[in-house]
Amino acid sequence: MLTKTPKQCWEEFIQFMEDCCSATEFQNWIAPIKVDPHSNDELVLEVPNIFVQEYLLENFQKHLENFLPTKDNGKLALSFVITAPKKQVALSPVIQPNPVVNEKQTFSLNSQYTFEHFIEGPTNQFVKSAAFGIAMRPGKSYNPLFIHGGVGLGKTHLLHAIGHYVKKNHKRQKIHCITTEAFINDLVDNLRNKSMDKMKRFYRNLDVLLVDDIQFLQSRLNFEEEFCNTFEALINQNKQIVITSDKPPGQLKLSERMIARMEWGLVANVGVPDLETRVAILQHKAEQKGIQISHKVAFFIAERIFHNVRQLEGALNRLTAFSRMMGLEVTEEVVENTLSELFQKAPNRRVSIDNILKSVSIMFGVGVKDLQGASRAKNIAFPRQVAMYLAKELINDSLKKLAAAFGGKTHSTLFHAWKKISNQIASDEMLRRQIQMARRNLEN
Ligand code: ADP
Ligand code: MG
Repeated sequence: MLTKTPKQCWEEFIQFMEDCCSATEFQNWIAPIKVDPHSNDELVLEVPNIFVQEYLLENFQKHLENFLPTKDNGKLALSFVITAPKKQVALSPVIQPNPVVNEKQTFSLNSQYTFEHFIEGPTNQFVKSAAFGIAMRPGKSYNPLFIHGGVGLGKTHLLHAIGHYVKKNHKRQKIHCITTEAFINDLVDNLRNKSMDKMKRFYRNLDVLLVDDIQFLQSRLNFEEEFCNTFEALINQNKQIVITSDKPPGQLKLSERMIARMEWGLVANVGVPDLETRVAILQHKAEQKGIQISHKVAFFIAERIFHNVRQLEGALNRLTAFSRMMGLEVTEEVVENTLSELFQKAPNRRVSIDNILKSVSIMFGVGVKDLQGASRAKNIAFPRQVAMYLAKELINDSLKKLAAAFGGKTHSTLFHAWKKISNQIASDEMLRRQIQMARRNLEN
C-alpha cells in the first residue's frame, strides 16, 4: 500500500519539474501527461504518444525514482497508456501566404505548415507523433525519419512543421530544408564552380537536414552517391535527417545502399484522411482563410472529395472566391453549383465487396466461399489477399468493416494483405496487369 496516492506523488513530481525544466520543455513534454484517475496501487500515466513516454523515462528516470514508489522488485510502480489525441482545436488564424525566408540559414518554410495547423486523424496520427517527437529531440530518437505517402497528403507540411519547431525551440541548431531538386541543382552549381568543398562543409555542419521528395533522386546516379555520402556523414554524427517520398524506400529505384540507409530509422506512412478528419481539415482551413462554412457544408464537400487534402483546399479556395464575388452565403446548393465538376466519383457507389469477390473468384478459379473462409492453402490465401487489396483500394470504408465482409477477418489481416500485394505489384508485372484489369472491370 502506498502512503500517498499515485496522484499525489505525481503532483509533487510535477511541481518539482516546473522548476527544473524550461517553460517550453514543460509545456511540450510534461503538461500533456495526465494521471489515469483509476490508478490505485501503481501510477498509470496517460501520454499522447510513445515519444512523451520515452522522453520522460530517458531524461527523468532519477527524479521519478525520488518521487514515485517502487514495487517489490525494485522497479517503479509506474505504467503508461497511450491515449488517442483529441481533435485539434483550430487556432486563431494567422495568414501569411508567403514562405518565411531565413537568410542566414537559407531555408524557406511555408509559415502555414506548422504542427498547430496539422489536423490529426487515424491515418496520420502515428506519422505526426513521430515528426513531433523528432522535432522535440532532433538526432536523439529515430534517425532518419522517412515519411511516405501519396500526393497532397501533408508530407511537406509535416517536414516544414519540424523545421518551424526546431527553429523556434532549438535556436542553436543549424537546420536546412531543401527539396531534392534544389539539392541536385546546388550540387550541379557547386561542381561547376569547383566549390564542392564548401558545399560539403555546409551540409556536414548541419544539425538537422530536411529533404523533400527524395523520389526525384531516382535515376540520378551521380547525385545519388553524393547524397548518400552526405547522409552517412550526418547520421554518423547523430545529426537528424528527415526525408519525404511518394513511395516507401523499398519501392524507390535507388541503390541498395541508399535504400538500406533510409530504412535505418523509422519509416512512417501518411494515409488518406477519413471523412471525419477531412471535415475537420476543411473547417480549419476555412477558419484560417477567415470564412465560415457550416459543419453540414464541410461534410457535403468532404464526402465528395476524398483523394487528397490539396484538392480539398482547392475546392475551398474556389468556393470562397465564388461566394465572395457573388455575395452568397455558402449553402449546399452553392457548393453543388460551384464545385460539382471537382467532385470525385465515390468508388463505393459502384464497387461492392460482392463484386470484388465474384471477380477475384473468376480470375483465380476459386469459390467465393473459399475467399471468405479460413483456408491458408496458397492457392486460396493468395486470391483472398488480392480481393482484400482490391477492397481497400476501391471501397471507401473502414478497414474493420471491409475485413468483416471476408468472413469476419480482422482489420490488421486486411491491412497486411493490402501491404503484401502492394509490394508485390511493384516487382511482379503480371500481377500488376491482372489487378489493373480487375480494377477496370469492377469500376466500369
Ligand atoms: P504532400 O507534400 O504530401 O504532397 P502537402 O504537405 O503539400 O502534401 O499538403 C498539401 C496541402 O494539404 C497543404 O496545404 C497542407 O497544409 C494540407 N494538408 C495536408 N494534410 C493536412 C492535415 N492533416 N491537416 C491540415 N492540412 C493538411
Ligand atoms: Mg510535398
